[in-house]
Amino acid sequence: MSYSDGFAERNAAFAATAFPGPQPLPPAKHIAVVACMDARLDPRKALGIEIGDAHVIANAGGLAKDALRSLIISQQLLGTREIHIVHHTDCGMVTFTNDVLHAKLVSDLHTHAGDNIDFLPFPELEASVRDDVAFLRGHELILKESKIVGWVYQIEDGKVRKVVEA
Ligand SMILES: [Zn+2]
Repeated sequence: MSYSDGFAERNAAFAATAFPGPQPLPPAKHIAVVACMDARLDPRKALGIEIGDAHVIANAGGLAKDALRSLIISQQLLGTREIHIVHHTDCGMVTFTNDVLHAKLVSDLHTHAGDNIDFLPFPELEASVRDDVAFLRGHELILKESKIVGWVYQIEDGKVRKVVEA
């Protein structure tokens, strides 16, 4: 028995009670959020984002570099003009290095296929937020007029704090 065995049943309840009806394709608030995929961080709930409001892009760490493809699509084709980066306390990305993960892949999977992948671990939380905001601010494929804000979400109490706005 897997938790996912209940997906269809719980979806039926969602569709019957919480689905807001069809929404336009472009995000209504013109916002894109890049957040860590951490299971304890739900950017929609934490920031009060409703269905149809924003693009929410999740990846390991909530890293802008990893989300660049999606952000370009979001801005160029779907009209978003704000980017919010959300990293969080107790993030797993500070717990390993590329060398460690590369070695694990060799050990577990007996392949060097991962050697060229940068898994983008970072040693310090707030510095990673600032780095990501600076990366986007300086990127030629991100609109110059974009509002770009970096946040830290606190796993301990559910609060966010703004680190930088550029
Ligand atoms: Zn994380």
